[in-house]
Amino acid sequence: MSIPIYTYDAIIVGAGLAGCAAARELQNAGKKVAVITKLHPLRSHSGAAQGGINAAFSDEDSVELHEFDTVKGSDYLADQDAVEFMCQKAPETIRWAEKMGAAFSRQENGKIAQRPFGGQSSPRACYAKDRTGLTLLQTVYEQADRVGVKFWDEWYAADIIYKDGKVSGVVAFNIRDMQMAIFNAKSVMFATGGYARAYKINSNAHANTGDGLSIVARHGLPLEDMEFVQFHPSGLSGNGVLISEAARGEGGRLFNSKGERFMEKYAPNALELASRDVVARAILNEIREGRGVGPRKDAVYLDVTHLGKDLIMERLPELRELAMTFLGLDMIKEPILISATAHYSMGGIPVDIDGHARLNNEDFIEGFYAAGECSCVSVHGANRLGANSVLEALLFGRFVGKTMVNDIENITLRPASQDDAARALQEVEFILNNNGDESVPSLRDELQHCMSDNAGAFRTKETLQIAVDKVKELRERFKNIRIKDKSKIFNTELQEAIEFGHMLDYSLFIVESAIAREESRGAHYREDFQERDDENFLKHTMAYMDEDGNIKLDYMDVVLGKHELKARNY
Ligand SMILES: Cc1cc2nc3c(=O)[nH]c(=O)nc-3n(C[C@H](O)[C@H](O)[C@H](O)COP(=O)(O)OP(=O)(O)OC[C@H]3O[C@@H](n4cnc5c(N)ncnc54)[C@H](O)[C@@H]3O)c2cc1C
Repeated sequence: MSIPIYTYDAIIVGAGLAGCAAARELQNAGKKVAVITKLHPLRSHSGAAQGGINAAFSDEDSVELHEFDTVKGSDYLADQDAVEFMCQKAPETIRWAEKMGAAFSRQENGKIAQRPFGGQSSPRACYAKDRTGLTLLQTVYEQADRVGVKFWDEWYAADIIYKDGKVSGVVAFNIRDMQMAIFNAKSVMFATGGYARAYKINSNAHANTGDGLSIVARHGLPLEDMEFVQFHPSGLSGNGVLISEAARGEGGRLFNSKGERFMEKYAPNALELASRDVVARAILNEIREGRGVGPRKDAVYLDVTHLGKDLIMERLPELRELAMTFLGLDMIKEPILISATAHYSMGGIPVDIDGHARLNNEDFIEGFYAAGECSCVSVHGANRLGANSVLEALLFGRFVGKTMVNDIENITLRPASQDDAARALQEVEFILNNNGDESVPSLRDELQHCMSDNAGAFRTKETLQIAVDKVKELRERFKNIRIKDKSKIFNTELQEAIEFGHMLDYSLFIVESAIAREESRGAHYREDFQERDDENFLKHTMAYMDEDGNIKLDYMDVVLGKHELKARNY
């Protein structure tokens, strides 16, 4: 039976903030756009963002300070031209979102309210209570729908059509009935989100399995800075569900088992509002040195009781609900138990400021773009500041959409053929029919434990080597899997097996990139190389997978600028 081929000007994979914002720009400019998304758009992880979106527009703040905080937060690995662009366009992005219908929380005087976040010189995070992401996602999704974007939701993108330096479409299947289709287009954008599901304790949605990265990498295309995985300081103890930085932004304090406000030791000035990598390591260090709390002594206290019921109910109602649901603790009355949780991926598909995906250090892939968490521009370098990511997704999503509108005029459509679906079909056939004795959930559990134990907030050459060996072993064992559900109707077991294959591939990028970076910078902390080494490692990692599945590393210069290299103290 032949596979249908649909033709569009632009295909976008992913319907979070980045994907919806780009799609709206394209459709609004009269282009024919389709968005392929494995979830309904409003289920995208963007909707889980609680705390806020940064923009410097108050009298005490400035765009230059926002740039400086971002570059310092990144441990000087961010590309300063991209940071400048993002910070300059941030106030306009807030106005745009508001004009589109997003209702931000406001001050008494009617101006948009802003809360402090870690590593920021001034209260800069605009918010809608603690439902910022959902408010923004509803707004951009509605606007994309309004102008007529075609959403193919519950469709799973399995492959890109890539040949000779050019991408000309996507191969996807309908999750409802496994029907395959080829989406042929002049331009394709990936907005597939993050990949923290590779870790056992993480704050991410189940869908954040980094599919987009592995799909790209399997064609021998590069992934940038994959060693930089952010551990957020406050995940609920035991499951990692996020308690937004808003809790500390509003004044929350951290205590260890001795009742000490331990951040005084680690960041005497910024305390709980030092940047995330610093606070997360401080928490883990307290626990490692025996000053943890809770039944397993694997947490610290986050205390907001002094803020009072009214403020908590007004600004942190969702966080209170989460702590009550998962821990049975009411933060109005008592401290809650938190620890670091894998949260955000700084690395991803390398792109320039306009969203063009890189083929290597010099060249670009024709017709291929990325934005949002799956991309690496790089505005976050080695460590992202809170409330800069919703900004990145919305802002770059929109601007990359504009780039695509212009580029499309000069791209000729390469017609797709049935052969383009061969690889995706083969993958599905293998998983459905393979008759081995390994189960995907238990392999996944092994991977997640191994990544948490060996490639987490603290790493050494030895632990990373254990992780490299384990991921390679799991890749071999993956060849021997068997799924029980052989049907074609909503086969979530099949989908999870495909997703696990992706997790294995990008995990190897994380650990191979991390083992080669013999320094500590931002979220990448090597206990055997505790200092930042600008002489040898002020550079982006560019990693490629060859046909045998081995990773080759190269490096790319960082774009420096007016914010000069300094030691990083908070
Ligand atoms: C709990 C939590 C709270 C956060 N809070 C904040 C905050 O307050 N401020 C902030 O700045 N940042 C925050 N972040 C980070 C921020 O929300 C995300 O980085 C950002 O929203 C990512 O947007 P995105 O559009 O790139 O991807 P996502 O919103 O993750 O969307 C990814 C999309 O890709 C689709 N997709 C993926 N793979 C496939 C496939 N194979 N086929 C088809 N579709 C696919 C999914 O269906 C989805 O639509 C938070 C993150 C989490 C996890």
